[in-house]
Amino acid sequence: MITLSKIADVRAACDAARARGDRVGFVPTMGFFHEGHRSLMRAARADNDFVVVSLFVNPTQFGPHEDLTAYPRDPDGDRAVTEVEAVDVLFTPTVEEMYPQGARTTVHVAGLTERLCGASRPGHFDGVTTVVAKLFSIIGPSQAYFGRKDAQQLAVIRRMTTDLGLPVGVVGCPLVREADGLALSSRNLYLDADARQAATILSGALYMASEAVVRGQRDARALRQLVVDTVANVPAVQLDYVEVVDAATLEPVEQLTADTLVALAALVGKARLIDNVTIMFLGGVPTPDLGVLTASSGTTEDH
Ligand code: AMP
Repeated sequence: MITLSKIADVRAACDAARARGDRVGFVPTMGFFHEGHRSLMRAARADNDFVVVSLFVNPTQFGPHEDLTAYPRDPDGDRAVTEVEAVDVLFTPTVEEMYPQGARTTVHVAGLTERLCGASRPGHFDGVTTVVAKLFSIIGPSQAYFGRKDAQQLAVIRRMTTDLGLPVGVVGCPLVREADGLALSSRNLYLDADARQAATILSGALYMASEAVVRGQRDARALRQLVVDTVANVPAVQLDYVEVVDAATLEPVEQLTADTLVALAALVGKARLIDNVTIMFLGGVPTPDLGVLTASSGTTEDH
């Protein structure tokens, strides 16, 4: 495993890999690795000859009052994780390396970025798509791996890749949860013990919504209300939004007839957390994709 921080060096390493006939797999991240990140690295390792992980806390995707400076970082721990996961290159550019002249060019995916997290985080997805497009251009992967934890991000990146005809396969990987259901996130570090306990209502409410659909509920408004009412039982959790939308277009639905995303965001203590479940209709039968549970204890030392 080598760590590279210059664009020219990582481009050269990827050029050399492709010249050998290697398939290049890529996992973009903001670091502070946990099992969710590791699952993407393992998927990339399984499918490709040469695996690149980027670690870049991208300032352009943070709003002016968001947690850019507080965002958790652990460069040494992260390097150790990439060694264990047999990553070939860890790309750790500086902000100056990525944006030497500031940023005048933006990739904007219209529509999909305006709802859900886009409504409360204006400009966030432009930051994401622009940096991911730039990383794709530097690394030239055949496949790139993203978690379904960030379901809107995945839908937006798929759409960008299709619209721009980028020669990259976008692979969505299962949402990884703690044993009690909490979605793993670097931001869980912000939760004190009480907030950590309160946060489990988010996945709990999504499980209840999934069960309701399996039992026959198809009305999106009723489903949304079920989540709102369930979360309201825990005053420490303040919902930002709950939406029931088409899984690909992110357009609101009234009745569940095809693959549907139930997505939410909430403030819990100092953390803004997101979670979701996708309900797939396989042969007309609703099948919730709740993700996978990890065996790890979820302490902050565990990332
Ligand atoms: P981040 O470092 O938070 O920007 O995340 C980097 C990648 O890891 C994104 O594709 C995320 O969707 C993915 N990821 C983060 N948390 C999880 C999780 N709990 N399960 C699966 N993937 C995740």
